[in-house]
Amino acid sequence: MRNRLAPLLWSAHRLVRAVRPAPAGSFRILLFHDVAETDLPAFAALLSHLADSRRLIGPAEAEAMLAGNAWNGGRLPCLLSFDDGFASNRVLADTLLAEYGARALFFVCPGLMALDHDRQRQAIVANIHDGKGAADDRSLMGWDDLEHLRAHGHVIGNHTMDHLRLTRLTPAQQAEQVGEAARILSSRLEATDWFAYTFGDIDSVDASALSEIARHHRFCRSGIRGANHRAVHPLALRADHVDLASPPAWRSLAAEGGLDPLYRHQRARLDAMAYTAQYSPTSV
Ligand SMILES: [Zn+2]
Repeated sequence: MRNRLAPLLWSAHRLVRAVRPAPAGSFRILLFHDVAETDLPAFAALLSHLADSRRLIGPAEAEAMLAGNAWNGGRLPCLLSFDDGFASNRVLADTLLAEYGARALFFVCPGLMALDHDRQRQAIVANIHDGKGAADDRSLMGWDDLEHLRAHGHVIGNHTMDHLRLTRLTPAQQAEQVGEAARILSSRLEATDWFAYTFGDIDSVDASALSEIARHHRFCRSGIRGANHRAVHPLALRADHVDLASPPAWRSLAAEGGLDPLYRHQRARLDAMAYTAQYSPTSV
């Protein structure tokens, strides 16, 4: 269905965009997980397109835009983010990201990183894939990898200790999952401003989790589609999951905001939660 629908939706989106462009100073955060070898051509094409149109920004530029600073490159720039800390992310950073000079966000789970290979494989299925699918040979990056990424200008963010769904936990457990990961990241690397909650959908976060996140971090990235700009609450940042296995027109639609109208209610709910959360950042 995506094959037939995407070109139609894409044309419709271009028409709407011409009439109602994204607010000035907007940027998007693109969301990826493990990038398999078979997905590399699609990822390379996307990266090349963004770089050619001067639309690739790093975390520092995104933070500056959230503070109201203008971006002098192409229209609607994109920040790349990678969730879960898969080992393939390190390979990508050393090859395609380095080739295009892209600086990205990598969200990791210190509790899963500490597991031995077999237990980590099981935890990838149970916790990251929510019990779906079978274990394979994929593994997660280690601390050396994260130090290497940091040395090359990338930013490491908190993705909870063990990749549990925060809305299934008590406030005390939420505090443990968010706070302990923040503490470990801070002691092994340095305190990070960035957090991404697990699973990314509107039912996977609540106001008490956001309050806990705000105690340790400045920015919380969701998985809810939309543009980011200075009027968006820093705890309610939007992101676009880009399925690299989908048809090219569908990928463009996702990355350019063509699916945004479908997420209006989720964005409103997320904003309401962010404004309810007790915003009291403290050092970790
Ligand atoms: Zn995740």
